[in-house]
Amino acid sequence: MEPTFNRTDPRSVLRAKAWGAARKQTESLLSAALPAGDLARLATEAEQLAERALASVAPRVIEDPKAVGWPMPDCQAGCHYCCYEQVNVTPPEVFAVVDHIKANWSDGKRQSVRKKLRLAAEKSRDLDFEAYFAARIPCPLLNAEGRCSAYEVRPLMCRAYNSLDVKACEQAAKHADRSAHERGVRTNGTIHGIMDGVFGGLQEALRKAGLQDFLPNLTAALHQALDKPGLRSEWLAGKRAFR
Ligand code: SF4
Repeated sequence: MEPTFNRTDPRSVLRAKAWGAARKQTESLLSAALPAGDLARLATEAEQLAERALASVAPRVIEDPKAVGWPMPDCQAGCHYCCYEQVNVTPPEVFAVVDHIKANWSDGKRQSVRKKLRLAAEKSRDLDFEAYFAARIPCPLLNAEGRCSAYEVRPLMCRAYNSLDVKACEQAAKHADRSAHERGVRTNGTIHGIMDGVFGGLQEALRKAGLQDFLPNLTAALHQALDKPGLRSEWLAGKRAFR
């Protein structure tokens, strides 16, 4: 969905521009690659696109962040206040995590995450966005050190998320209140806009190819994809493979 923006606020305009450019570029590049391409690799391509778009802004930022009005995120490795939310994903992003788990994790670690995914999927069934936030269900991919155990292939919405003030995240988590979180946690909108735009372009490319393009809950989707080996073929055949 196109973000609303305030024309008189330069940061809001920058965010909208980043969103529009990222979405357009992603959709045209991925649509061109779709007929012959490996569809399940689209997540990797989209993630690379997103990181390249961010890197193209970064040199100016590194030279002088204040001059370009770049608000620095307060996010640090091991801080995970934001990993208790419902994460929207596309199927290729889910398959990217599945492939990462299969290629890199031991049998024991895989079994353990499957169990956590099953429990989290059961707990989160029928919860809307607000109720999910209030339930404080940790993402099953969080490890004991509070880090993402699939960081290299984390979804675009996880890449989008950032905060300019960790104390605001801490308060929102303490009160388990999603609306307070929305009001209180300020973000770097350009980072968010780029990632969200790439997400929109990826969805559009999948929709045009007649494929299921949106899944509201990473936990439930990953649980299904790991438990049902034939699910990827069903998705590739244009079926609504994810429930
Ligand atoms: S996938 Fe990783 S970054 Fe995203 S919510 Fe889960 S643990 Fe956090």
